[in-house]
Formats: sequence, structure tokens, C-alpha cells
Amino acid sequence: MIVMKFGGTSLGDAAKLTNAAELIEANLEKTPAVVVSAMASVTNLLIDTTKNAALGKTATVERAVGELSQKHETAAKQSLKQPDSVLQEVRHIIGSLKPLYESIGVLGEYTPRSLDLISSYGERLSSLLLANILIERGVSSEPIPTADLVITDDNFGSANVDFKVTRARVAKKVKPMLREGVTPILTGFLSGTEKGVVTTLGRNGSDYSASIVAACLKAEEVWIWSDVDGVLTADPKLIAEAKTVPELSYREAADLSYFGAKVLHPKSILPAVEGGIPIWIKNAFKPEVEGTVVKAETVRDKKPIRGITSIRNLSLVNVEGAGMVELSNVAAKVFGAVANLGINVYVISQASSEHSICFVVDKGDASKIVRVLKREFSERIMHRDIDEVSVMDGIAIVAVVGEGMIGTLGIAGRVFGTLGKSKVNVVAIAQGASELNISFIVKEEDLTKAVACLHREFGLDK
Ligand code: ADP
Ligand code: ASP
Ligand code: MG
Repeated sequence: MIVMKFGGTSLGDAAKLTNAAELIEANLEKTPAVVVSAMASVTNLLIDTTKNAALGKTATVERAVGELSQKHETAAKQSLKQPDSVLQEVRHIIGSLKPLYESIGVLGEYTPRSLDLISSYGERLSSLLLANILIERGVSSEPIPTADLVITDDNFGSANVDFKVTRARVAKKVKPMLREGVTPILTGFLSGTEKGVVTTLGRNGSDYSASIVAACLKAEEVWIWSDVDGVLTADPKLIAEAKTVPELSYREAADLSYFGAKVLHPKSILPAVEGGIPIWIKNAFKPEVEGTVVKAETVRDKKPIRGITSIRNLSLVNVEGAGMVELSNVAAKVFGAVANLGINVYVISQASSEHSICFVVDKGDASKIVRVLKREFSERIMHRDIDEVSVMDGIAIVAVVGEGMIGTLGIAGRVFGTLGKSKVNVVAIAQGASELNISFIVKEEDLTKAVACLHREFGLDK
């Protein structure tokens, strides 16, 4: 059997939902278990609306709920000959969302727990639609909410999976269905605690859901259907000449996705590695294109680099001071504070001087951490051991990834030489980059130039 996952981009409207149903139907002999994301932009809308509800923006909330109804009802009407019972269910589900927004409006705040519950609505709706489209086409199918199958702790927003319990639950529910020829349409992204509280696996987490389900069912392969021809040598939205990479090792895929190749969630690698399950990334709108396969053993390319990825909208936080002699102690405090805030650090660097530590976080997290660090180090700042805790916005990370770099001399020289020739100013070089990855920090305005010159230098456009 295989697991097929459809992303929001391949479920965006009635035609795309129907396209997904056709792909499932065309591969029924492979006994697919299907995992779905919400329809495109739905999760964003659900989350934004939660925030607006807390701000008391009642009219905006009402408009958003209307938009959600319209989107799913239109999709049902356009993709089903007899949409009535599905429409009723869509209305019922969205009807149960309204009081959640209302109570957030009354309270004037929302909790991570309520945000997860609300975020999970998109997948519940999309799985309902896709399963019913299949049923109308004569394929036996059922929408399966995964809150009581994928079991996690209560770390809302990015819950941690209990694989032992999850394996038993998924197998017990899904295996008999597959045996009876029923195609389950499982909700990606959402999960639940043992007590039945809804959690989520983190934004873009339905790739992870797919590989969890695959590991639980010992699937032969995972197929991630998206809107690109696989994993490309760079983000096609940045580099038009980006080419499909036919094969990636798990480690290469992990690094590429961690540093911005959004097409695959970094967490989806581990369950696949452990189960030895290859992951295919394929284009739902060009299924004849083979796509990319991510697996343990790959054929070594002549090129040392497989791809260049990047993340923008970041900030560089710098803690600096001539008196920072016991740097390790400072580092422990800095990263302790970061961890307490639950902030994700992309890279750490000490490039600018021995007396500084800098690290890169999401732009939205920078002011929070600076406030905390200034408080933490107030005494040392007063004594001038630490001169300042500063932030540089408009930062991007670029990562050059490929196992071919291992044991090939001079790649770093070529990378930084090329950047220099193209007049890209490297703000910092990331520390602790693994041997298959060189990552560095540039100003956002230099990002496209940086990726483009390296893409050319390493022949990735050919
Ligand atoms: P889905 O809704 O299917 O999960 P995503 O939007 O999460 O789709 O991921 C697909 C997008 O990832 C593509 O449209 C593309 O712009 C982006 N992307 C970024 N880097 C890469 C890359 N190296 N290869 C392929 N796609 C990439
Ligand atoms: N719908 C969820 C999100 O937008 C999960 C996913 O798309 O993978 O984050
Ligand atoms: Mg995605």
C-alpha cells in the first residue's frame, strides 16, 4: 500500500478536488491511504479570524465565516452531482465554528488550545469533500478525522507525537478499511491528546501526517502531491530556471526543507527514514512528470550541490560586548531565554567577532527575545560587559545543500568567491553547518542575487 498526500495547493477548488479524486482513482490498485491538507488559504483564514475575533472585529469575523462557507459550499456544488447531504454537513461543521469565534470575542482572547481546535476545521472540511467526490465516482471512501488516531502531547501548535499509541490506533482503524477496499481520506495536520483534546502538528504539518501514517501502516511509498515538478534546485518563485532534482537522500531533503524548500516539511523525513520508506514529490497537475524521490541511497550526481534554498522575513539578533569573556555562560543564558519563549532559532553564528553571539529568528520573534535578553543582562549591560542587544531586520538565510560536497575540496571557497564577485555582502556565516550544507546570512535585498549567482556557478540551471 501507499500513502498519498494532497496539499492545499492541489485542493484549491472544485476542479482541483476532482483532479485529486482522479489521481486517487487512477492508483487504486496501489491501495492508497490518503492524507489531505485544508483547501488552499483556509488555515490562514481560520487563524487570522481567531485573532480578529479576540480583537472584537465582529464584522470581519462574520465576513470570514461567510467566505469559508462559500468556498466549501461552492466546491461541493461544483464537484458533486448531488451535493445536498454534503452541503448539510459543511453547514453543520461551519455552524459549530461560529460559537467558538463568538466565545473568543466575548473573552477578548484565545488560547493555543482553542487556536488548534479552530485550525483543524480546514482539514475536516476538505476530507469530507474529497471522500464524497470519490464516493460519487463509485470509489468506496470515507473521511477520517485523525484527532483520535494521531496521538500527541498537549504542546499546542506543534504537538509531539506518541508513536507507540499512534501506530496502534492508525493500524487498528485504517488497515481493516484498506482490506475491505475502502479508501480512507485522513485529515492531515490535526492530531489529539489521549484525553481527546484537538492538537496540531505545526503549520504545513500535513506532510508530516502523511509520513506518520505511512510509518504506522508500513507503507511502501509516500506520494506528496503538490503544484511543482518535485523538489527543485531552488524555489521556482525566486529562480525561474530551477530544475527538478530527480533524487535526494533523506539528509539532503531534510536540510533543503529545513532551510526553506516548503514543498516538504522537515519533520516528515524522520518517520520515513525509520521505516525506510521512499517519499515521492509529484505535481498533481502534471502526474506524468516523474518528480523527485527522497530515499536512503541515491546515485551520486556529478555536481556537488543538489539545491539552494532560502528563508526570508528573518531577523538577526546580536548580543555583543568586549566584556563577554565567559561566552559559554552568556550563550547558555541567551539560548535558555530563547528556549523558554519557545522561539525557533534557525542558525547561530559567531562570525562578526569573538565577543558576540548572533542568531537568526523569525522577524516576529525578534522584539520579544530582545526585551527578555535586555532584562536578563541588565546588570552586565550596566557594567558595559555587554554593549548591546541589537536586532537587524530584513535578513534571509541561504543554504547550499548536497552530499557531493562531502570530501570535495574548495566548495566553500567557490560559494563565497562567487558571492563576492557578484557583490553580495555576506552578513554572517552559520556555525555548525553540517558537512552537506553551507549556510549563510544575507540582507533580504541581496537574496535573489545570491541564489541566482550560486545557481549558475554550480550549473544547477543545466
Ligand atoms: P502544498 O500546499 O502542496 O503543501 P506548499 O505551498 O506547502 O504546497 O509547497 C509547494 C511550494 O513550495 C511551491 O509552490 C514552491 O513555491 C515552494 N518551494 C520553495 N522551495 C522549493 C523547492 N526547492 N522546490 C520546490 N518547491 C519549492
Ligand atoms: N493546512 C495546514 C497549514 O496550512 C497544514 C498543511 O497545509 O500542511 O498549515
Ligand atoms: Mg505544504
